[in-house]
Amino acid sequence: MEDVKGKVYFETYGCQMNFSDTELVAGILAKDHYEVVTDINDADLIFINTCSIRENAEQRVFSRLKHLRGMKRRKGKELVVGVMGCMAERLKTNLIEKEKLVDVVVGPDAYRDVPRLIQMAKLGEKGINTLLSLDETYENITPLRTEGISAWLTVMRGCDNFCTFCVVPFTRGRERSRPVESIVKEVELLSAEGRTKEITLLGQNVNSYSDSGKQFGALLEAVAAVDRSIRIRFATSHPKDFSDDVLLAIRNNENLCKYIHIPFQAGSTKVLADMNRTYTREEYLSLIDHMKTMIPGVSLSTDVMVGFPGETEADFEDTLDIMRRVKFDTAFMFKYSPREGTKAFKMGDNVPDEVKTDRLNRLIEVQERISFENNQKRIGNIETILIEGPAPRGVNFLRGKTDSNVACVFQAEPGMKPGDLVKVRITSGTGHTLKAEVLKDETVSI
Ligand code: SF4
Repeated sequence: MEDVKGKVYFETYGCQMNFSDTELVAGILAKDHYEVVTDINDADLIFINTCSIRENAEQRVFSRLKHLRGMKRRKGKELVVGVMGCMAERLKTNLIEKEKLVDVVVGPDAYRDVPRLIQMAKLGEKGINTLLSLDETYENITPLRTEGISAWLTVMRGCDNFCTFCVVPFTRGRERSRPVESIVKEVELLSAEGRTKEITLLGQNVNSYSDSGKQFGALLEAVAAVDRSIRIRFATSHPKDFSDDVLLAIRNNENLCKYIHIPFQAGSTKVLADMNRTYTREEYLSLIDHMKTMIPGVSLSTDVMVGFPGETEADFEDTLDIMRRVKFDTAFMFKYSPREGTKAFKMGDNVPDEVKTDRLNRLIEVQERISFENNQKRIGNIETILIEGPAPRGVNFLRGKTDSNVACVFQAEPGMKPGDLVKVRITSGTGHTLKAEVLKDETVSI
C-alpha cells in the first residue's frame, strides 16, 4: 500500500452544495492517498470551501484566513492552505495576493486538478485553477461521505438564470446535468452500503435538470425506485421551471418527501422583474395553489430577501402578503447584500440599512408566528420520523425529522437508533420543533 501523502482538513462555509463539494474533493484526495483528518492541528493541508453569496460570508472567510496565519508561521512550508469554491472563482489570483498565506486557489469546476495543484504548492509555486467548464459534472467520482444517515448527491451544477443580485452564474458557471445512469448507480451504492436512509438531490436549480430528454421528474422516479426505504428530498427549485412531472413523481412515490423548497425572493412584481426572476407574484401564488392541490399537505419552505434596490414599503407589504398567504413552514430570510459584478450592484444599494433591518425583523416576526401556527395544527397527527440522533436537551430523548422536514423530539425506547423510522403522535409544538409520543404497536413504513 502506498504511504499517506498528507493529512487534509476541510472547513466548509455556505450552502449544501458546498458541503457536497467538500465530500467530492475529499473523495478525490482519498483516492490520491491523502488522509482526511478532523483535527486541524493534525493537518498539513487545510482547505477552506467558501461562499460568496453575501458580503458577510466572504468577510468570515477572510477573518478565518487571518486567524490561520499564526499556524502557517509555525509550520512554514510544511502547511499548505487552499481556498476552494465560490470565493476562489470570484477573486482568483487576488486571493493569493491579498491573503499571502494561500497556496492553492481552486474553482468549483477544477476539483479534479487539486492533487496537481497541491504538488505545485509543495514545490513552492502557487497552484491556481479557476477555469469554468461547460460539461464537468464529476459523474464518475465517489465522494467521501462522513455524515451519518443522510447523504447529499449533486445532480446538476451551475445556473443560467442570472438573477440580478446573484454571483452564482459567475462563480459556478453554466447549467449542466449529470447523467441519470451515474446518479442511479451512486444511489444503488449508497443503498448497498446500508448506512444511508435519506438522500438530498442537489443543484442550483434541480428542476431544470435535463439529461438526453429526461427531465427532473423522470430522475426523481428513477432514484425513488432504487430503494423504497430511503427518503428522497431535493433542493433548490426555481418557480419558473416547476412542472407537473415533479409534482406527479412526489404524489406517486411514498419515499419522495412531500416537502418543496421554492424561493420567491420578493413579493412585488416590480421587484421580481428588477431581480430578473421571470415570474410575477400572481404566477408564484398560482404555482403554490397548484402544488397544494396536487399534493395535499405539502410542506413548503422558501428564500426571501428585503431591501433590494428600489424596494418601497408597498413592495415590502407585498412580500409580507405572500408569507401570510402561502404559510411556509420555514423561510430563510436575508437582507439584500450588493455583490460586485452583478447587475443589481449597478442599481445602487439605496435602501438604508436601518430600513432593511426593520423589514427583516418584521418578516421574521410574521414567519415565526406562521411556523408556530402550522406546528399547532400538526398536534394529534400521526407522523413517521427518521431518527437522526440524541435530542440536544432532555435525557433519553431522540430527535428526527418528519417527512415534511420538521424537527421532532420524543422519548427514546429501548433499541431505537439513528436511521430507524418510528411512528409517533404529535403532542405539542413550538415554531421550530414538534414534541411527540411513540406509537409502539404501529407498523412503520416510509
Ligand atoms: S436561480 Fe438566481 S438566485 Fe438561484 S443560483 Fe441562479 S442566479 Fe442565483
